[in-house]
Amino acid sequence: MTPTENQGESQINQIDVLQLQHENQVLRARLQDLLEQAHRNQNIMARHQSFDLKIIGANSFRELVVNIFSSLAITSELDVVSLILLDRLGDLQQMLADLKIDINEFPHLTFVRTPLKSHKTDAVLNKPLLAHYQSKVHGAFFSSCSKKPSSIALIPLWRQDRLIGYLNLGSFVADRFLPNMATDFIERLGSIIAVCLENVINNERLTYIGLTDPLTNVSNRRYVEQRMLEEIARARRQKYSISCMYLDIDFFKKINDQYGHQGGDDVLKEVAKRIKAELRLSDTLGRFGGEEFVVVLVNTDMQDALLVAERIRKSIASQPFNLSASGTCETTISIGLTSIDDNSNQGETANVANEMLWRADQALYVAKNEGRNQVRCT
Ligand code: GH3
Ligand code: MG
Ligand code: MG
Repeated sequence: MTPTENQGESQINQIDVLQLQHENQVLRARLQDLLEQAHRNQNIMARHQSFDLKIIGANSFRELVVNIFSSLAITSELDVVSLILLDRLGDLQQMLADLKIDINEFPHLTFVRTPLKSHKTDAVLNKPLLAHYQSKVHGAFFSSCSKKPSSIALIPLWRQDRLIGYLNLGSFVADRFLPNMATDFIERLGSIIAVCLENVINNERLTYIGLTDPLTNVSNRRYVEQRMLEEIARARRQKYSISCMYLDIDFFKKINDQYGHQGGDDVLKEVAKRIKAELRLSDTLGRFGGEEFVVVLVNTDMQDALLVAERIRKSIASQPFNLSASGTCETTISIGLTSIDDNSNQGETANVANEMLWRADQALYVAKNEGRNQVRCT
């Protein structure tokens, strides 16, 4: 080999080495990228896994919804999350209100009576829809959000063949959700959330059934007694008055005798309805037994409670009751009333509750003795 050839070869070697070194660097950088990507994916996976665990572990409606709103936006880096529940008869909302679950705590939770239309085609959404946000087309899904997103994922929540609502994700980034993107991940999220929602709603229904009087649909005695303890403790903390009414339909036995047991039941149902109509959402009404009801009025002193009691008495005495068989009947109610303010709210809450019920019952006894169809207080 001549020296020139030798020189030439070493130059080629040098170029090879440089090239190799360069390729190596590129590869290393690529590997580094992949490694970082893997770490990122692992972190994302871990975040999603922990989100899944949180929502699957939620035992109550409130806990689940808190988790959806507080964690999903962070886990999935979203700017807007809204949840719409399909409540065809309004009974879901009524049950939540009766269980004192305050839905106003969640501004981005709304209820609709009929499925929302997703598209100009007027079709009900069967699968997730990813799109640029257009207020005319998608506005109904984000009515609770003041700042509208740029791109969105609308996820219908299906349980078997039943639509239970929509989970709506939004981003201020215009290309975060594009129509041609894969939706497997989003579909999976929708299925998990639908199962979790159905589960907690069923749990709440079971609780509700256990605490509700099946004839009148108002709370039962167990619920009122439990609620009274909580309300007495709260009234003490927040230093306000609380009142308790004992109500008993007058000569109810005669209604049964005259119109039969069914007639009596019709009157019981309507009496419960009329009492409820005079109360606030925060008050509690329960059927304590046969034709006796108890009402707990929070943040209400004797003077205000007397006005409510008088309204109830009038609403029952003034209008006849329709009977399902046929015809109408009339009835009246007697009411015993008692109140405590924050000075008299002392000692064991259970003792305070018993004392209030006892005093309201004593006042009711006086109302009965003094001629019925009247309100008496102690
Ligand atoms: P008073 O004015 O003194 O309260 O007289 P009253 O007849 O209302 O009181 P009493 O306690 O003597 O009678 C209550 C009746 O309520 C007796 C019972 O048969 C009837 N009752 C209890 N539970 C039910 C029910 O679920 N449905 C019907 N239809 N009647 C019931
Ligand atoms: Mg009675
Ligand atoms: Mg009675």
